[in-house]
Amino acid sequence: MSLPIRNVAIIAHVDHGKTTLVDALLKQSGIFREGEDVPECVMDSNDLERERGITILAKNTAVRYKDTLINIVDTPGHADFGGEVERVLGMVDGCILIVDANEGPMPQTRFVLKKALEKGLRPIVVINKIDRPNAEPYGAIDKVFDLFIELGADDDQCDFTTLFASGLAGFAKNELEEEGTDMKPLFEAILHHVPPPAGDLSKPLQLQVTTLDYSEYLGRIVIGRIHNGTIKAGQQAALVKENGEIVKAKISKLLGFEGLKRVELAEASAGFIVAVAGFADANIGETLTSPDDPQALPLIKVDEPTLQMT
Ligand code: GDP
Repeated sequence: MSLPIRNVAIIAHVDHGKTTLVDALLKQSGIFREGEDVPECVMDSNDLERERGITILAKNTAVRYKDTLINIVDTPGHADFGGEVERVLGMVDGCILIVDANEGPMPQTRFVLKKALEKGLRPIVVINKIDRPNAEPYGAIDKVFDLFIELGADDDQCDFTTLFASGLAGFAKNELEEEGTDMKPLFEAILHHVPPPAGDLSKPLQLQVTTLDYSEYLGRIVIGRIHNGTIKAGQQAALVKENGEIVKAKISKLLGFEGLKRVELAEASAGFIVAVAGFADANIGETLTSPDDPQALPLIKVDEPTLQMT
């Protein structure tokens, strides 16, 4: 498959507008047909999340811009779920850092940004909620820059692209003085500043299980990025368990992401983020690989960091 892809993570402190901004991207990408009701809050669909008012699970969504498929993965901003942030960041080649134009960077901004910088990602900075009367976009940029320096960002990372946005009004722009009309500048920034995924198609399949899901019909579903090789629906695959045990089974269903929906695929190759059914006892961090040459990707250490409320 030669479809151009970008895989990006979204990083933000709670309430800085992650959900609203992704909704704006979804709306503009034409995922919703005209006349179709757009759910009020499309990304935080999990009831538990609604109840707690925070984003708990890493979620996947995909939008199309021009002919590029942009996979957007949500990053948990809080540290209670050790290792999850690292795993999610391991699926992407770039990230969007959303910062409230009035509040500036907050503890969760710092926590996740630190991990992203350590992974070598070059964030695109979105100064959000600029429609608000108390917005101080330039002050927020200065604080973001100071935070990059403090967290040890390299020269390339410090030379970040900045956009000004109102997810609520549905626009992003490159200069504060411009009139904001739509999300196009953010789509363009993703295309130009997030590298296309790397991966070796000639190598045996390697997919790291990043998220687990469950469907009554399909059973356990594993979600992750194909790091190398190709995966086909119906093929035999091997799961390398944490203890080194190898479990062989058939890929009973292969799914890709389209908006908030999942679509059935016959085949997907390195760089794609997919959902796979058929492995009932797969766990997070394990590798789905070729049955002929089962090679695990390194397990991501699950630590339990504490959030510094400074
Ligand atoms: P999340 O926790 O980062 O997902 O934040 P949400 O997208 O849920 O937004 C938190 C609150 O900020 C909600 O009340 C939104 O309506 C509001 N909000 C989000 N984006 C904007 C924006 O661009 N402008 C204004 N004025 N409010 C916004």
